[in-house]
Amino acid sequence: MRIAVVDKERCQPKKCGQECLKYCPKVRSGDETVVIAEKAVISEKLCVGCGICIKKCPMKAIQIVGLPERLEGREVHRYGVNGFVLYNLPVPRSGAVVGILGANGTGKSTAVRILSGQLKPNLGKEEADWEEIFERFSGTELLDYLKKLRDGKIRASIKPQYIETIPKAFRGKTRELLEKFDERSILDEAVEKLNLKASLNREVGDLSGGELQRVAI
Ligand code: SF4
Ligand code: SF4
Repeated sequence: MRIAVVDKERCQPKKCGQECLKYCPKVRSGDETVVIAEKAVISEKLCVGCGICIKKCPMKAIQIVGLPERLEGREVHRYGVNGFVLYNLPVPRSGAVVGILGANGTGKSTAVRILSGQLKPNLGKEEADWEEIFERFSGTELLDYLKKLRDGKIRASIKPQYIETIPKAFRGKTRELLEKFDERSILDEAVEKLNLKASLNREVGDLSGGELQRVAI
């Protein structure tokens, strides 16, 4: 199965010659494989994945992605028609570190947003309720996790990805910053484990990238 994905940020129908519409052989033969609304919309059902529109689009806004057939109906989250689709989730394990590796745009941030409760998965539809979500994950290790997430029994703490924003958001010494967020009174233990003793009395703005990474953790 090949599905067309339009990058909505890049697609600029008012600035291009709408080449995707003009050159699509399916549109030329009279169907509605490509429709231009605010952005280009490519029908996953009608598109035959010939790739012509990819070559013609001046904004490089189209990608055809090949997917194994069995993933159909297994969507976890979809960002609208022709939008990015996430088909599975990693399983967090108590007391263990789970790493997610993948190229840009493969859904790592979406997975983290779902697992942290910031984004409710829509199962590829406009919206899904929790019962449908539990049904989708029944018999998997994630079911219990998602139930706890829904019930507020799991709280996520997210380390900022762009550490250079920390000194812009907080002016003062490292100790003051860490004390401010020490909800569990584990400052001494965390400082020891992350080797931050020497950084405690320094200004956050003077810390190195490595120190900022450890402060962010
Ligand atoms: S996909 Fe490309 S060619 Fe089609 S409307 Fe968007 S920018 Fe234009
Ligand atoms: S891949 Fe081919 S069939 Fe599909 S939208 Fe592009 S030009 Fe049309």
